[in-house]
Amino acid sequence: MNPPRDGELIVMQSFVYNALPGRVIFGQGTVSALKSEMERAGCTRALLLSTPEQAAALKDIAASIGALAAGIFTDAAMHTPTDVTDRALRAARDCAADCTIAFGGGSSTGLGKAIALRTDLTQIVIPTTYAGSEMTPIIGETEGGRKVTRRTLKVLPEIVIYDVDFTLTLPPRLTVTSGTNAIAHAVEALYAQDRNPVISMMAEQAISAMGRALPAIVAHPQDREARAEALYGAWLCGICLGSVGMALHHKLCHVVGGSFNLPHADTHTVILPYAMAYNAKAAPEADQVVARALGGRSGTQALVDLARKLESPTSLKSIGMEERDIERAADLAVQSPYWNPRPIDRSAIRDLVASAWAGDIERYMSGP
Ligand code: NAD
Repeated sequence: MNPPRDGELIVMQSFVYNALPGRVIFGQGTVSALKSEMERAGCTRALLLSTPEQAAALKDIAASIGALAAGIFTDAAMHTPTDVTDRALRAARDCAADCTIAFGGGSSTGLGKAIALRTDLTQIVIPTTYAGSEMTPIIGETEGGRKVTRRTLKVLPEIVIYDVDFTLTLPPRLTVTSGTNAIAHAVEALYAQDRNPVISMMAEQAISAMGRALPAIVAHPQDREARAEALYGAWLCGICLGSVGMALHHKLCHVVGGSFNLPHADTHTVILPYAMAYNAKAAPEADQVVARALGGRSGTQALVDLARKLESPTSLKSIGMEERDIERAADLAVQSPYWNPRPIDRSAIRDLVASAWAGDIERYMSGP
């Protein structure tokens, strides 16, 4: 099949499309709808959730809904540790909560999902990063240092309030890495085994929205239009992640980030151009769509150019991975089989990880 031309949609001969339920309120100042959304859902007692860093903003939100705020829990943490979930469950029971309001990034959302998994409480999420967890039926939980991920509709949030105003405080570096984390969901959706034209259309829109918005935000972090475009793009990226299967990129980030305790969004940011380069020949249509969305010769080159423009982290070394861990990362990445457009080969994966560790994308792109 020829690469798509400008404006041309990839229409496949046959596909399966699974729509996920959920209600989305998007805009600026939309947090003012929180009370009416709770009432609409028949909820009267909310447990509000955040990380310690966002506790002050959470208290303001609690004050804005008055008696509907039954309790506050501000110990949400990265990778959803089950001991934190146990404490949050006690807090939910103590205040007789009938819903949770998760305010923050993937860490707060993950805690809301973990509570819903065990109690079926209604979830309202107010996302403040671009991670996209609020749009997925996926939960990853950590117990005894091991992260287990599963998919169940029980954890899909019922109501999501995107309020652009809350993203204005996201620091530029986190904006860049979280935004690139979002782009990665859309990129892998384009070559997913169960891809379909609707999700591919969202993925392309999402990547171009992010490609426009992120440089504008880095230049002017308070640019509301750019912040709105990034949050819109992140929403679409989250739908991509929740709707179709992911491949090499997400597997590598899970393995490398989880095993060596690297920051989640930074790991995605470093790995993405390498995963695209690994798959480009096996998924030429996806590569061309990424190139078209970002503007560039190839998808990989366009991602590299965007990373340069954003001054993103570009090596695993710079975000805390030790050189001696390269072999173990390659072993873990090939341990359990998963679908990928290009077959997974131990020596090719080792080369990818070693190049990403050193930050040597030019050599990696030029091939062996
Ligand atoms: P995060 O939620 O851990 O947030 C990072 C830090 O930024 C925290 O300290 C947080 O308080 C702060 N922060 C968030 N928004 C802010 C804002 N607007 N202004 C100032 N500070 C802000 O990071 P994340 O990258 O959003 O989420 C990562 C977690 O989410 C990981 O555990 C990852 O596995 C999970 N995740 C899950 C899914 C899924 O579908 N299940 C998808 C993506 C990510």
